[in-house]
Amino acid sequence: MKYIGAHVSASGGVENAPLNANSIGANAFALFTKNQRQWMAAPLSKSSIDKFRENCVKYGFAPHQILPHDSYLINLGHPEEEGLSKSRAAFIDEMQRCEQLGLDRLNFHPGSHLGKVDIETCLRTIAESINIALDKSTGVTAVIENTAGQGTNLGHTFEQIAQIIHYVQDKSRVGVCIDTCHSFAAGYDLSNVEGFYSAFDHFDNIVGFKYLKGMHLNDAKKGLNSRVDRHDSLGEGLLGLDTFKVLMKDPRFDNMPLILETPNEELWKDEIELLRSWEK
Ligand SMILES: [Zn+2]
Ligand SMILES: [Zn+2]
Repeated sequence: MKYIGAHVSASGGVENAPLNANSIGANAFALFTKNQRQWMAAPLSKSSIDKFRENCVKYGFAPHQILPHDSYLINLGHPEEEGLSKSRAAFIDEMQRCEQLGLDRLNFHPGSHLGKVDIETCLRTIAESINIALDKSTGVTAVIENTAGQGTNLGHTFEQIAQIIHYVQDKSRVGVCIDTCHSFAAGYDLSNVEGFYSAFDHFDNIVGFKYLKGMHLNDAKKGLNSRVDRHDSLGEGLLGLDTFKVLMKDPRFDNMPLILETPNEELWKDEIELLRSWEK
């Protein structure tokens, strides 16, 4: 079964996210559990946590249909002590918020070397950050998202992701989220059927589908290997609808949140319906 949704607003409280997801006909959703542009956040209130859990039950969202996303400020591969410890503390807080909400995974961008350390050192730092966070939380899987490779962001190749996983001690609590736009921008040509299968066969060889815990379904505004992260609405970018048709028919993407982060939220309801029409 395919679980399809979008990254919905949690404004007014996390408990509103399942309502917003339900209103666009989604059976999956993503959310921020705190303001994604601020370091500090008030702890989740007991009432917010209770209502979130109630609403998830009411609208039929189980943990494996929900993919929370961490703050954009966090850099788990930060080359400097101050930035790194701030990021690690914030990430632990995010993992614990997920735990409080009864969620089982947290999606994050691996990190950036900022031109100050080599790639290998940065990948090891990211893995160590994951190890620390797993140690300080229970039941939540750290889900590494592949990136477009913009600037000094790592995680744009499947090899880099595999390398991070290699250094993570508890392999049962590390996972991967693949973003279709980021993949294309990073040089994986998902725009045609042959390219799609070859990229995901490569993913399976290098990382392994057993680690796949979610997908971000976005069309791409910028070219193949452009290393620029600009999402587009489905069918309006350089990937085109075929990418998503193939994906919807592929059972390897069953039973995990498939999340739209497309720019026009007015279209989400239709995009979800369109994706669902290809499922059969
Ligand atoms: Zn994404
Ligand atoms: Zn993106």
